[in-house]
Amino acid sequence: MTGATQTEERQATAAPAIELRGISKAFGPVQANKDISISVKKGTIHGIIGENGAGKSTLMSILYGFYKADRGEILIDGKPTSIPDSQAAIAAGIGMVFQHFKLVENFTVLENVILGAEDGPLLRPSLAKARRSLTDLSREYELNVDPDAVIEQLSVGHQQRVEILKALYRQAEILILDEPTGVLTPAEADHLFRILDNLRKEGKTVILITHKLREIMEITDTVSVMRRGEMTATVKTAETSPEELAELMVGRKVLLRVDKKPATPGETVLSVKNLKVTDGQGVERLRGISLDIKAGEILGIAGVAGNGQSELMQVLGGQILNAKGEITLNGQPLALSGHSADGMARRAAGIAHVPEDRQREGLIMDFAAWENVAFGYHRDPAYQKGLLMDNAGLLRETEGKMERFDVRPPNPRLAAKNFSGGNQQKIVVAREIERNPDLLLVGQPTRGVDIGAIEFIHQEIVRLRDQGKAILLVSVELDEIMSLSDRVAVMFDGSIMGFRDPATADERELGLLMAGIEGEPDQPAWKAIEENMKAVEDGGTPPNG
Ligand code: ADP
Ligand code: MG
Repeated sequence: MTGATQTEERQATAAPAIELRGISKAFGPVQANKDISISVKKGTIHGIIGENGAGKSTLMSILYGFYKADRGEILIDGKPTSIPDSQAAIAAGIGMVFQHFKLVENFTVLENVILGAEDGPLLRPSLAKARRSLTDLSREYELNVDPDAVIEQLSVGHQQRVEILKALYRQAEILILDEPTGVLTPAEADHLFRILDNLRKEGKTVILITHKLREIMEITDTVSVMRRGEMTATVKTAETSPEELAELMVGRKVLLRVDKKPATPGETVLSVKNLKVTDGQGVERLRGISLDIKAGEILGIAGVAGNGQSELMQVLGGQILNAKGEITLNGQPLALSGHSADGMARRAAGIAHVPEDRQREGLIMDFAAWENVAFGYHRDPAYQKGLLMDNAGLLRETEGKMERFDVRPPNPRLAAKNFSGGNQQKIVVAREIERNPDLLLVGQPTRGVDIGAIEFIHQEIVRLRDQGKAILLVSVELDEIMSLSDRVAVMFDGSIMGFRDPATADERELGLLMAGIEGEPDQPAWKAIEENMKAVEDGGTPPNG
């Protein structure tokens, strides 16, 4: 590498790595990109942020040759470049890491990387030579990928690194990553950011698409904000703030931190003792969970997905009917098996449930919004009119709920599938919260939800807490757990690793607990976490657990 000043001088005079001028693209009546212009300097990380549907993926697909722009120009290193297909993109030095990887599962890393590269710039390299250059690249950028590993045996994080490796092997100078951290654990995301930093240091140009403000603030040099197909601003990351970016994304001021008073917990509402669940394969998913939640309190469960959080919610919500242990609600024991433990019985007992997977469990997609509002409560006397359901009453009630929860469009006759993800979630949250439950179970309340709606859903959960309800919150977003909860429990491998006060908890320690590690290890945290995750994936016992 040359000296820093020389590098800076070269960058100042060099043409931008990528320049887009006046790009527009419509899909039928939807104007996905409107007259978009950006310029990205070589050797920088440029973020593109925007809510779902803002047009980010469309713009990058145009740059990668998947879509043809209706209008506009692409310049690579200052030269007008036509990119009719992905071959042309690769030839222009552009690599793309997709949200859903395009790897052949039962091939090795090496095989995947050279697959289709033969007719590229590196005419049929020998396997030995290819393996060597993969090993070099892997070391240079801290990718830590074994060329001979089989894809299906790799973690999601490693598979993503194979995609990066593939792009680098094809001599990409510009790397585009579309929402890369959505599938990663916090430790894997940290590792990815180190890799991106290494790429930047080597003079590569990175475009990072995300809807997470924290990632933008952490790693990018410049950021462009998209809203409804338009590029609303491009700013230097060091000169902006999450609040400003949120406002640019949503078009109004957004409260990023949950505004809540300290909890004033009352009597114990939920008490769980030594809860155990074994799945159909005989694997113990819950290994003796004990917890209490008081009235007026939010207990948040932090953890990497798949460590028993879902099973805990499903036992409490009545979807798993073969648990062992003890549960009481307001001092009354709840059944753990059979009909009297099912969803209907749970609702009758005063438990409401916003399930993690709203598309599968929370809504019937082909049914209208008002029918979905009745769903799960259809035997409730409040919704009965003689032997029939009171449809007109339900329609009216749904209209009211849609208005209060700002569901758009506020049309109760529209099928659930025709609402955006955020509005679907608002329908489920409205239905459950308005039941006025003693205990609300909330799983991943804001997954795939726009930040404007996140703010609203969080406020509703806090409002319910302040009415003296008990709330059990499960989320893989540590930020969400930390800002919303009054107490945090960390789950790992079916057990609770510990309870912490979010006001005083150390996020690094929480990250370690999430990986099953107690106390202070003397190795770097990310390394211990990776080893543990790999061991768990392989079905063994974590070395640091
Ligand atoms: P983002 O990546 O910011 O979430 P997208 O670029 O995926 O947004 O989508 C922008 C808009 O274009 C959305 O309204 C989306 O529904 C629409 N859109 C994207 N791809 C297609 C397509 N292939 N056909 C029709 N509409 C599309
Ligand atoms: Mg997208």
